[in-house]
Amino acid sequence: MLKLGSHVSLSSSSAGLLGAAKEAYSYGADTFMVYTGAPQNTRRSALDKLKIPEALDFMSQHNLSDIVVHAPYIINLASCKEDTYNLAREFLAVELQRAHAFGANYVVLHPGAFTTSTAQSGIERIIAGLNEVIQEHLPIVCLETMAGKGTEIGRNFEELSAIINGIKLQDKIGVCLDTCHMHDSGYDIVNNFDGVMEDFDNKVGQQFIKVLHINGSINICGAKKDRHANIGATSDNPRGEDKIGLQALHKIIRHPVFDNKPLILETPWLDDKHNLYKEEIALLRGEL
Ligand code: FE
Ligand code: FE
Ligand code: ZN
Repeated sequence: MLKLGSHVSLSSSSAGLLGAAKEAYSYGADTFMVYTGAPQNTRRSALDKLKIPEALDFMSQHNLSDIVVHAPYIINLASCKEDTYNLAREFLAVELQRAHAFGANYVVLHPGAFTTSTAQSGIERIIAGLNEVIQEHLPIVCLETMAGKGTEIGRNFEELSAIINGIKLQDKIGVCLDTCHMHDSGYDIVNNFDGVMEDFDNKVGQQFIKVLHINGSINICGAKKDRHANIGATSDNPRGEDKIGLQALHKIIRHPVFDNKPLILETPWLDDKHNLYKEEIALLRGEL
């Protein structure tokens, strides 16, 4: 079964998680992803203000399941700066608790950027940090595949494998594949998705795949840019043409490895008030 959804906002206003669930329902979604607060900072509202029980009720009544939480970008476990690393570790521990309170099974994390050190030392710090915060009763940490801009770690399957191999609780670590990022980092998901998945299985193991981010890309394969495009967007789309394309994405999401797993759109908004999530979900289901 296809389990489709998008990123929705968890506003600090009174709507809380219930508002996020209602927004997802308005798009015809089966699942959704939230940031627990602004992705750029660590300010978070109190859990008892977020209407969590009401949201979980609404979800079960409207066939919504498998909330995904995306950790904020400021978490950088690969940093060689002590204060950045400590903040990352402490905040990720709190995020895992919050995601657990939401009933979420997955927390998506950008592995980190090694900045002025090396990929090897970055990977070592990520492993050490994760082993401190991952716990048996908390959600699975899903390392996201990255586009490879700057010094991002997670730009290839070898780096993801190196991190995963160092994690003590193997059932609490996973991967979130991102179609835009894989394409931008140089994997030919348009013409050879099955081959890319075979490569992933050999280097990492398909059992670690938990979540998929479905995005188009405005750049060519290997561009290392990370600019998302709307699904199948043509050149008249204000946010740019999608170089991955609907046909490829349609096929990718039907790969058996994604059966019943949360598939999440993070496609651009056309302007402040309009996104295409509802249309894109219908398009991917084959309804448009
Ligand atoms: Fe991400
Ligand atoms: Fe993503
Ligand atoms: Zn991205």
